[in-house]
Amino acid sequence: MEKPAAIAAVKGFRDVLPEESRRWRALEEAAERLFALYGFGEIRLPILERAELFARSLGETTDVVQKEMYTFADRDDTALTLRPEATAGVVRAYVEGGLAQRDPAARLFYRGPMFRRERPQRGRFRQFHQIGAEMLGREDALADAELLVMLARYLAAVGARDTRLELNSVGDAVCRPGFAARLREFGRAHLTALCTDCHRRLERNPLRILDCKVPECRAVVAAAPVVLDSLCDACRTHLDAVRALLDQERVPYAMNPRLVRGLDYYCRTAFEVVAEGLGAQNAVGGGGRYDGLVAALGGPDVPGVGFAIGIERLAMIATGMEELVTAPAVVVLPLAERAVGPALALSTRLRDEGVPVGLEPAGRSLKALLRAADRRGARLAVILGDEELAAGRATVRDLVRHEDRRQELALDAPARELALRVQALVGARP
Ligand code: AMP
Repeated sequence: MEKPAAIAAVKGFRDVLPEESRRWRALEEAAERLFALYGFGEIRLPILERAELFARSLGETTDVVQKEMYTFADRDDTALTLRPEATAGVVRAYVEGGLAQRDPAARLFYRGPMFRRERPQRGRFRQFHQIGAEMLGREDALADAELLVMLARYLAAVGARDTRLELNSVGDAVCRPGFAARLREFGRAHLTALCTDCHRRLERNPLRILDCKVPECRAVVAAAPVVLDSLCDACRTHLDAVRALLDQERVPYAMNPRLVRGLDYYCRTAFEVVAEGLGAQNAVGGGGRYDGLVAALGGPDVPGVGFAIGIERLAMIATGMEELVTAPAVVVLPLAERAVGPALALSTRLRDEGVPVGLEPAGRSLKALLRAADRRGARLAVILGDEELAAGRATVRDLVRHEDRRQELALDAPARELALRVQALVGARP
């Protein structure tokens, strides 16, 4: 019979194997702990939403909506989309779930997969994962500052090295139209150097030429006017207040007047965290203010500000997670087939007491079993041979000191006692 071919994962979709997922969990737990100090509660959102949610919130002319969404017709022909980001879903839930009335200043954080059909490369996937936080109902600069302090503290807590917070203001409904007109004028003067997508963008939504990824367009855009020079008084005051609070808290940041976010709903504060050493995909996280979004999605006129961090990229630069790799403290080794039952019983009792235990199959030599225990990085091997079974006591070998304690563990001792004994032996340093 022909050997069946292996089936590969879909391009841009990847598995997170235990070694990596342990680091992810640590990143998530650090976020949970820290974000709770700032009053954030977790929201768990569906991955699938109606396509119109994103068309309306992100903007019809954005790259995400035009080229990158996984949209398909459900069996009843409803257009559905695998979420490319979570802010739109958070806002939908805020309105639909009645938080807008019950808790208008809700602070929500989320984590989970997002889907964008981008060209996969290092640090860029088609399914990727984010941890994000959203603060609804607040338009004051204090909210932006608090959020940015939390973000900075989070990056420090997980040991994200060499990151830089870049800040900008992208104006609001008052000053942006004037800037858009100026940008359109600039673009028309450089039309031949811009891609055809940008020609279209210039007419429909000139701001989008600022995040075009085509190198020729980027070169043109580098000389374009910046929105920071066109801010109205209210936006200028808001930005100054955010900056003063960040300075007070000694949160380092750099103004980047060319920073724009790829989605239409941002206004005023926009920011990004970039990391050295990530290569081309150097953005670890980003966010900003989205004051018109809740109303645009059919809710009350409520402002909001938030951020999202890419877990894959954060895991690549977070150094604070190394010590979290846990090898089993103990590996139980049944020498003979008849030791299998007692070995499982001993393992279960230790695990019930919270001791991580590795358990090897029977039927190999002691030497082979000890090699297996060593490979797992365990400190102790618990050996169950004929002699041990006859005595009802397991032998313990210290795999670091290469010492045996013959018939050390009474198999019928209370589980708690066994666990304490094992922990004492594991804790014993050479
Ligand atoms: P954005 O909403 O595009 O600013 O994304 C926020 C963060 O999510 C980015 O800074 C990245 O860390 C991460 N991210 C966005 N797109 C991808 C992707 N295709 N693959 C991996 N991470 C991504």
